[in-house]
Amino acid sequence: MARSARRPPRPAVLRAQRMLQARKAPKPQPASAPERPVREPDAPVIELREARKTYQVGDIAVHALRGVSMNVQRGEYLAIIGASGSGKTTLMNILGCLDHVTAGSYRLNGLDVRRFDEDTLADVRNREIGFVFQSFNLIPRTRALANVELPLAYGGLHREARRQRALAALEQVGLGQRVDHFPNELSGGQQQRVAIARALVTNPAMILADEPTGALDTVSSAEVMSIFRRLSDQGRTIILITHEPDVAAHARRVIRLSDGRIVADERPENTELVT
Ligand code: ADP
Ligand code: MG
Repeated sequence: MARSARRPPRPAVLRAQRMLQARKAPKPQPASAPERPVREPDAPVIELREARKTYQVGDIAVHALRGVSMNVQRGEYLAIIGASGSGKTTLMNILGCLDHVTAGSYRLNGLDVRRFDEDTLADVRNREIGFVFQSFNLIPRTRALANVELPLAYGGLHREARRQRALAALEQVGLGQRVDHFPNELSGGQQQRVAIARALVTNPAMILADEPTGALDTVSSAEVMSIFRRLSDQGRTIILITHEPDVAAHARRVIRLSDGRIVADERPENTELVT
């Protein structure tokens, strides 16, 4: 395809090209879609405009998001906080390309995700977004190393290269000595660190974590939060969803959701959340 022609290495353009190239054989594209790669190299990672999400439950419309607009720039460490039912998980699913807005728009790295077909969306999720969930979601009876290698399985990387990248990711979260352990041989905090390594291994544009400390004791929570802080210091873009103010206080920016709307967007000094 013409767009694979060599160009100067502009990271945003290269990233966009990767996003638009199907992993396996690219399907023939209709003339009108998908959207062409980013023209502005400095596009925010996230641009959400008047995002609404309505779930239809029988005759009842549940308005989970009621017009949410926000930008997130590369390298930001953002916490999204709100009470149960305020729309946090709905927002995470949209940001993570697991679900679409009912109205409004979402651009990821400058590209309107509505224009992606299902294959491209799956590819974007795999390459550009590192997910961390409350429940770790590791594959049981599978060693830590193999769990971390998993997102690389479809990337065309040689086996040894996958292994090296997974090892490096596990070392980043302080688990270099535990790579051959099975999930049930690891503590909750260690399992979550494996999950963070798995989220990191594709070198994604952002890490999206939904209540990552929700199932952890205080000590493990502190370990996990210090890893996020270190990743942020290294320039990673991190979006952390939580209902706990002391967890949100680790972030450099805090957005508060209430009843599907943003009610505060603050950059607390000393990264202490002012409530
Ligand atoms: P939070 O993660 O902040 O607890 P959610 O995004 O899970 O909030 O939910 C926001 C609102 O949307 C709640 O009222 C919830 O009941 C509703 N909701 C979430 N998911 C669905 C769904 N799949 N179908 C219907 N209603 C839903
Ligand atoms: Mg939730």
